[in-house]
Amino acid sequence: MSEIEFTRLHIGGEWVDALDGAEFETINPATGEVITKVAEAKAADVDRAVKAAREAFENGPWSRMKPKERAAAIWRLGDLLVADQDEMGRIETLDQGKPYSAARNGDVPTAAGLFHYMSGYATKIEGETIPISAPGEYHTFTRREALGVVGLIVPWNFPLTIAAWKVAPALAAGNTIVLKPAEATPLSALRLAHLALEAGIPPGVINVVPGFGSTAGAAIAAHPGIDKVSFTGSTATGRRILEGAGGNLKRVTLELGGKSANIIFPSADIEAAIAGSTSGIFYNAGQACAAGSRLYVHEDVYDQVIAGLKAGAEKIVVGDGFDPASEIGPVASKEHFERVSSYLEIGKAEGTVVTGGGRVGDKGYFIQPTVISDLAEDARVIKEEIFGPVVVVTRFKDEDDVIRQANDTRYGLAAGVWTGNVAQAHRVANKLQAGTVWVNTYGIFDPSMPFGGMKESGWGREMGHEVLHDYTDVKTVCINI
Ligand code: NAD
Repeated sequence: MSEIEFTRLHIGGEWVDALDGAEFETINPATGEVITKVAEAKAADVDRAVKAAREAFENGPWSRMKPKERAAAIWRLGDLLVADQDEMGRIETLDQGKPYSAARNGDVPTAAGLFHYMSGYATKIEGETIPISAPGEYHTFTRREALGVVGLIVPWNFPLTIAAWKVAPALAAGNTIVLKPAEATPLSALRLAHLALEAGIPPGVINVVPGFGSTAGAAIAAHPGIDKVSFTGSTATGRRILEGAGGNLKRVTLELGGKSANIIFPSADIEAAIAGSTSGIFYNAGQACAAGSRLYVHEDVYDQVIAGLKAGAEKIVVGDGFDPASEIGPVASKEHFERVSSYLEIGKAEGTVVTGGGRVGDKGYFIQPTVISDLAEDARVIKEEIFGPVVVVTRFKDEDDVIRQANDTRYGLAAGVWTGNVAQAHRVANKLQAGTVWVNTYGIFDPSMPFGGMKESGWGREMGHEVLHDYTDVKTVCINI
């Protein structure tokens, strides 16, 4: 087993065992071997964490800190993440499988950037004065207040980055936190809690409860002492969380699945479109909610794009994240490997496998970058989210028809458009039902860009100033003067 420093629950600033002493194994998906055992939170542990978070919210130093002091602590957490890049990157690669270069130079700085960006908002959460017309004289204004205790439930594809998407704005707004990482990837969230304490974020502000969805996750969703839950993961789990949250009608943000359409028009720079579409689906082994997993290619450039995509997919080096040559790692767990593999079989029956279609090697959970074409519009691999390195390609003739097909999905997370025509870029971007549309690029994220879904891809937004609305409530104060 590898040396891992933080493997216990983090509650009230202490590292503690689960009340029933339970533990679970976290597995390296590149080898199938156990990395370490982690304390497993159940409902009673979630309850302890909620109490610690409530105490920190009501009575702790956090609630008395000036916005500027809160901002400084959040900024310091960003700095500490940068300083911790090597170890945090190592942990993320061990636990999640992604290449060390991507974890160390991508995910960790991205998370740090989130804390740096959001720290500035701690001093800029403002209300408004309202000129009201009721008879009499009044001074009326709004205050934006922290919600209280927020429950953050995070998936396993970008364990640290998605935790940062939620933790950073929750802190900037003054909330306290119960954070549940995914059972497949608990380690980086625990280390983040350690760095937060070092940064001067007081004990009890960030509590981390690794555990399973049906126990710890469900307990967070249903807990009457939690004021809001922010969840990223599958649409099916999002529905379960909504049901749980109904008890105390807690606020809910959901960032769910996607089956994002990526459209290549013939006027585009085709080489750039091929390169962007290749990384747009295969980055992180396709385990990205915004992955461009449905590619629509105009008939005039279809053969060229298919050839380029095939060559691009076959050039990608799939291997252990600690091998510097690896460009993509395994998928994150055995369960997910089996799920993606079953979709490869469905794809083979439904269409033509242009390249890929199988596993790489015989140990670990590696899957070949796969391109599937010649599919019916209602093929399952077109309709259902695979969440792996698999792109389905469809040929189209005209703009209206491709917009119809792109929107013919229950999801609405992201989309891509490649075109040399500015008017077409605007026209198509306006008509696509997606929370983010990238034009002549794919997969650009920035802490200042709101990200989230339309339709069944979710509610609310992460990042940008929009996210602060999801972590604050408005109070109207009306004073008779
Ligand atoms: P999931 O939605 O089940 O898991 C995500 C998180 O939710 C984990 O922390 C999990 O423990 C927790 N969870 C599970 N059941 C819960 C419940 N009943 N109550 C509260 N929390 C619960 O996702 P998964 O099964 O690990 O992955 C399946 C699919 O989810 C993927 O194939 C993909 O479609 C989707 N997914 C989407 C994203 C995204 O970024 N939008 C990320 C990961 C997975």
